[in-house]
Amino acid sequence: MSIPENVQAVLAQVRQAAQEAGRSPEAVTLCAATKTQTDEAIRQAIAAGVTVCGENRVQELTAHLESGAYAGAQVHFIGHLQTNKVKQVVGHVDLIHSVDSERLLRAIDAQAGKLGLCQDILLEVNLAGEQSKGGVPPEALEPLARLAGELPGVRLRGLMAIPPISQNPGDNREYFSKLRQLFVDIKGKILDNQTKIDCLSMGMSGDYADAIAEGATLVRVGTALFGPRPPIRAFS
Ligand SMILES: *Cc1c(COP(=O)(O)O)cnc(C)c1O
Repeated sequence: MSIPENVQAVLAQVRQAAQEAGRSPEAVTLCAATKTQTDEAIRQAIAAGVTVCGENRVQELTAHLESGAYAGAQVHFIGHLQTNKVKQVVGHVDLIHSVDSERLLRAIDAQAGKLGLCQDILLEVNLAGEQSKGGVPPEALEPLARLAGELPGVRLRGLMAIPPISQNPGDNREYFSKLRQLFVDIKGKILDNQTKIDCLSMGMSGDYADAIAEGATLVRVGTALFGPRPPIRAFS
């Protein structure tokens, strides 16, 4: 199948999953995970209806921004972000999904302050205690969320998680449900009127329908849109 056909099929499935969950189809946005993709592939996806692109690596983000490949779509940063690279990301993207430490949060705030803007962010939660992955443990979420609510250069918009790779359909429902509970909990506790905590980023090619059933507002889908990726050195 071609990229435009894949985009149409995934958008239809996203709408269907939302309807089956009794949710409005507009409540869920498809974020195309564009890592390793060419400018041309990204342009095709946007022409076919993708409205948000999610990039993992700073180098690829910068290259696609320079070439104008994202024209017509929002850009999100969804990969692991190193503190020394915030300059290339803050102010260049609409939303950073992967904030997972106080150090990174403060670095984003400082850079946003320099630029005189407020950066929308999500906090990434490590739900399964996987060493190999980023994200804060659920216990550490509340203090970080409170800090985010206090810093003038960041606007906390919600939560993100990357659960373990599922072996069977339905495997990750429990993680999605857990992230949704944390989301509701944080929304109730962080009462900064600046913040509009409305984003729940969860679900990938193999499990986005389950994530939508559990309340996802952003699903990050790569393979189902672009086909299998060539192996790369690092996931992030
Ligand atoms: C690559 C990636 C995705 C998409 O993964 P697929 O299984 O290809 O759909 C989603 N989120 C993040 C953070 C990714 O790096």
